[in-house]
Amino acid sequence: MKNKYLYILNVLFLGACAAPSSNLELLDSQADKTGYLFYKNSDINLHISELKDKLVFPAKGYGVPDNLNLLPNAKRAYRSGYHMGVDFSSPMNYPIRAVYGGIIVRSNAHQQDVDINTYNYFLNLSSLLDRTPDDIYNFILLGKSIIIDHGYNITDKYRTITVYSHLDSISEGLVVGDLVKKGDIIGMSGNTGTSSGALQNYKGAHLHWEMFFDDSSGRYFVGQNIPDDILKQNIELLFIN
Ligand SMILES: [Zn+2]
Repeated sequence: MKNKYLYILNVLFLGACAAPSSNLELLDSQADKTGYLFYKNSDINLHISELKDKLVFPAKGYGVPDNLNLLPNAKRAYRSGYHMGVDFSSPMNYPIRAVYGGIIVRSNAHQQDVDINTYNYFLNLSSLLDRTPDDIYNFILLGKSIIIDHGYNITDKYRTITVYSHLDSISEGLVVGDLVKKGDIIGMSGNTGTSSGALQNYKGAHLHWEMFFDDSSGRYFVGQNIPDDILKQNIELLFIN
């Protein structure tokens, strides 16, 4: 009884300071997230232990960046207000590899960038909505992109996909349904789907890479809800150096 009273007091006190919206979130914010790839709560999370060193870096020689603005959870005016991926700083026309084997579920080699006015129209629509609708995100902002389904082969806890976007080109003949192996070249990095792509210049090339984990409760992205100070090191554990 005394413990319960102390707990309620504690929740009220911390609630006033940190303003968590529920007791559950309060408990989750106190969880040790060292080594987790995402953490929603004590039931829905993914620890690195079964995935460590499973992937190759998508742009060989370009590691996980230090800048938090290039990592998941960074604030963005598009998407749902935050970044769900990692921006690897590969230059224009640099080979991009499948981080793991799987089946191609998206390959849009012939997509053309829209002109800058149309691009800005879609960005303005998104800011009016305070989120980026899936159609604008997938068909405009990702540019030329590859999505690979890894099934349950990376982890048996979640179906996993990886996304490679802003590509300058996609490997010749690579189409939906094809099988790729870990390390296969799937395309070359670029700036399609960015404002520079819409302006037809060569600036701003990088690989925007995402990794999502699906189960019956929903979809989670790598790094989701992982604190800034351990975010880079947790994501790095995925890759063979
Ligand atoms: Zn990005």
